Amino acid sequence: MSPGRDIAQRLWRGSGRILRGALRQAGTRCMVCGRALRGALPDACCPDCARGLRPRFGGYCPLCGEPYASQDEPVSLCGPCRLGGKPWGCFGMYAEYSGALRGAIVAFKYRADFGYLRLLRSCLLRGQELHGSGTGCGIVVPVPLHSRRLRQRGFNQSLELCRPLPSRLGAELRPRALSRLRDTASQSGLDRTQRRRNMRGSIRADPALVRSRKVLLVDDVYTTGITAKVCTSALLRAGASRVDLLVLARVPGS
Ligand SMILES: [Zn+2]
Ligand SMILES: [Zn+2]
Repeated sequence: MSPGRDIAQRLWRGSGRILRGALRQAGTRCMVCGRALRGALPDACCPDCARGLRPRFGGYCPLCGEPYASQDEPVSLCGPCRLGGKPWGCFGMYAEYSGALRGAIVAFKYRADFGYLRLLRSCLLRGQELHGSGTGCGIVVPVPLHSRRLRQRGFNQSLELCRPLPSRLGAELRPRALSRLRDTASQSGLDRTQRRRNMRGSIRADPALVRSRKVLLVDDVYTTGITAKVCTSALLRAGASRVDLLVLARVPGS
């Protein structure tokens, strides 16, 4: 090798070291709020965001996740669940839809910021571990989007979130087990009863894919629970032997 080329290579390697050093000095940024973090690893959160991303350990309804005022309250059925129950078996969630978790979901879902996907996937996996929903299931089924909505967004957030689950659970991913027959995306302006009516019969399950199977149904955000109910009922009507529900986040008071 010519001496000139050797020197150039050494300079190049040296500049790489300097650049890496400068980046370490500058630190990275909190991946949720963007605050500068000194000496942190990529994908790190600032202490505030890390607090906001903690899973919910106590003070919620075990069947619908409704959070109570304090995490220190016992896990106990809420009024509506005590009265009516839910069609699913085990319910699992990561945490309440607020703060840093909400920010990360909004960025991922509405701004297609896939930088948050790894973080959100690990939250969903942790939610599954914490509550055991889907343990022993045969298939994992994400809540579907209507084809029009899918074209607009470009991806189904629930499908992208649940991709690591099947291998963890020894199950198969079945994104086509459920389909939306009607576009019910815009439910704003409707009250609860109208929403329920609007949703009824809007989702179909494929019996060939779900008959006699234990299903884990996955959604990103649980708001009124109507979507989860309609999906669960469709799966059961199509012959699923059991449906568990896992959501990333629960909107409180809905
Ligand atoms: Zn932060
Ligand atoms: Zn409840």
